[in-house]
Formats: sequence, structure tokens, C-alpha cells
Amino acid sequence: MIGKAYLVGSGPGGLGLLTLRAREVIDSADVVLYDQLPGEEILSTLPRDAELIDCGKYGGNHTLKQHEIEALMVERVKAGKVVVRLKGGDPFLFGRGGEEIEVLREHGISVEVVPGVTSAIAVPEMVGIPVTHRRYASEVTFITGHEDPTKPESALDWEVLSRLKGTLVILMGVKNLPAIAAALAAHGKDPATPVAIIERGLRPDQRVTVGTLADIVEAARARGVRPPAVIVIGGVVNLYDGEGLSG
Ligand code: SAH
Repeated sequence: MIGKAYLVGSGPGGLGLLTLRAREVIDSADVVLYDQLPGEEILSTLPRDAELIDCGKYGGNHTLKQHEIEALMVERVKAGKVVVRLKGGDPFLFGRGGEEIEVLREHGISVEVVPGVTSAIAVPEMVGIPVTHRRYASEVTFITGHEDPTKPESALDWEVLSRLKGTLVILMGVKNLPAIAAALAAHGKDPATPVAIIERGLRPDQRVTVGTLADIVEAARARGVRPPAVIVIGGVVNLYDGEGLSG
């Protein structure tokens, strides 16, 4: 008796951007493994009779390691359960979804992936910033800000990134913003390039901070910018519609 595994994207937050397929699959689950990124509006609708596993606070306050999450999924599927791994945004963009399906497949478990609306596009979009635009950007690059650019083992080539003419969208970049801005500036990116930081996009307490590459670090510090936030760098930021500029 073997169950079934689903890797499901929740969208950036809010029931309106959860897909119909995601809703259907979540509602059929025996087990849901989640973290806080999908946001309260979605998490409050998880099926009450399912086993709900908060991967950030397992058994009190233990944050599950990636291998522990994978092991739990394998174990529950092998026990015959319908298991949903719920991820913020789209499961294959910086969500470690790719790693999770690899592990499940190694155990002979097939996985259905349910794509989600990614925060990398939707969060800027909802404040009027298109990630591409004929006048400003014919290309967009999605970057993890998780890596410290000053570390020699960084997988990112900041010299190449700073030469790109299109939009840079950085996820998980709040902590390393000073190092990222410095790396781009050091490789010749125009200090006047517009930058927007959208915190808690699509949540009631969404907040937007705008500036330039030269002054965004100070602006973020002064306003106490915190994750989760999407950072957008490029001319498209000029289209920001001013909504959400509060706090
Ligand atoms: N797979 C997700 C991204 C996971 S990485 C997706 O496709 O959206 C986690 C990062 O996503 C956060 O650090 C933040 O940069 C971004 N993020 C996700 N949801 C967000 C939201 N509602 N508002 C702002 N940033 C968000």
C-alpha cells in the first residue's frame, strides 16, 4: 500500500492566487507539510482532519532540516498517505522542490507537481512593476540573495550580473543587500539604477521601499526592512504605481 505525493505551489499569498488544482489537492491530503511562506490566509484553510506539519516548528520549536522533511514525506507516503508538500510561490523557483522530488523518486515514489504563481513576478506586478517592458527590460534574471557575494565559493557571477541590461529580481536578499549592492556597484552597475523592495507582498501589511542602487541600503536600514521581500533592480521600477508606500 503506497500513498501519493504532491509538490504544490501556494502562490505568493492570498487565496485568490492559489490555483484550483492546488486547492483540490490540498483538500484531499492526509498530511500537509508546510512552512510560513504561503501566509496566514492560505494556512488557515488547510484541512483540519489532516496531519499538519509545520516544518518551521516541528514538535514545539524544532525547525526541520531539509533531509528530515524529505524523510517524513517518504515515510508517510510509504504508510499509504496522500502527502502534500506546500511551498510558497512556485515550488521549483528557489524552493528546493527539485531536491525533494529527486529524493522521492529515489524511493520509487512518483510526484505530481502543481505549479504556483511565483512571488518573483507577482509581488512586483501587484505594485505596478512589470519584470519586463519593451522600453526598459527585454530580459529578466532571478537571483537568490541567499549567498554572500563576498564569499569566494559563491555560485553567482556578479561581474556578469552587473553587466546585464534587463531586470534583476532578487529573492531571499534582505540580509545580504549591503553586500549585493556593493558587488553590483563594484562591477560597474550604474549607481542611479532604480531599486524597489517589496516586503510581505500581497499581505495586509505589504510595504514598498524605493531608491537607487546608491541609496537603497541606507533606505532599507532606516525603514527596518525585513524578509520576506522581493528586490527589483532596473528601469522597470520607474513604473511603480505608488501603492503600498506606507509605514
Ligand atoms: N518558491 C518561492 C520562492 C521561495 S524563496 C516563489 O516562487 O515565490 C523565499 C523568498 O521568496 C523570500 O525570501 C522572498 O524573497 C520571496 N517571497 C515569497 N513570497 C513573498 C511575498 N509574499 N512577499 C515578498 N517576498 C516573497
